[in-house]
Amino acid sequence: MENAATRLETVRANIARMCKPARREPSSVTLIAVSKTHDAPAIQPLIDAGQRVFGENRVQEAQGKWPALREAHPDIALHLIGQLQSNKADEAVALFDCVHSLDRPSLLTALAKAMDKADRQVPCFVQVNIGDEAQKGGCPIAELPAFLESVRRTDIPLAGLMCIPPADTEAAPFFAFLAKLAADHGLTGLSMGMSGDYETAVMLGATHVRVGTALFGSRG
Ligand SMILES: *Cc1c(COP(=O)(O)O)cnc(C)c1O
Repeated sequence: MENAATRLETVRANIARMCKPARREPSSVTLIAVSKTHDAPAIQPLIDAGQRVFGENRVQEAQGKWPALREAHPDIALHLIGQLQSNKADEAVALFDCVHSLDRPSLLTALAKAMDKADRQVPCFVQVNIGDEAQKGGCPIAELPAFLESVRRTDIPLAGLMCIPPADTEAAPFFAFLAKLAADHGLTGLSMGMSGDYETAVMLGATHVRVGTALFGSRG
């Protein structure tokens, strides 16, 4: 029988298995349970099974379900993994403990201002448009050095780099490329890998994997 707890056990075991050949400690990989589209009753079993880091891709959806869930478990960390509009920066800073989608100067300005106002510094990953896809979010690779420099001129803690590789392609080369870009810029955090490829991502250095379907089942 497949339930949330056994799925969580499986994903954790897979992460640990991939850490071994890479000579990494399983504790060096943060598993983010991506709970977008799933309601509180679907999330609760994972909390009961000990999962404490969750990811959402929309501010409004997260505002609807997480304050109540967190009241009972104040040690839960909430990560924003989806694109963020600058006019939602205040709300995002109030609700999230980490942002994975910092990708442009206007959002940097908005987040820095929101964090100053709230006196709360939320670590941010810079999302990189690793496949150079026109329709996708993420900082263009050519603009990454200058953008990282402007992030470093603010008080925002720079967590590392994040990417979503092109769909229907082998992800490994893109993960390896992101790891190289991070190393080139002295960054250790790597947010990469989803349900279909988190094991590959761990082998290639992911410090944060964002796993939804493999934990919750399909989003219908
Ligand atoms: C939905 C989502 C995920 C999780 O995807 P699964 O394939 O369900 O594991 C990871 N990262 C981002 C940015 C997402 O939007």
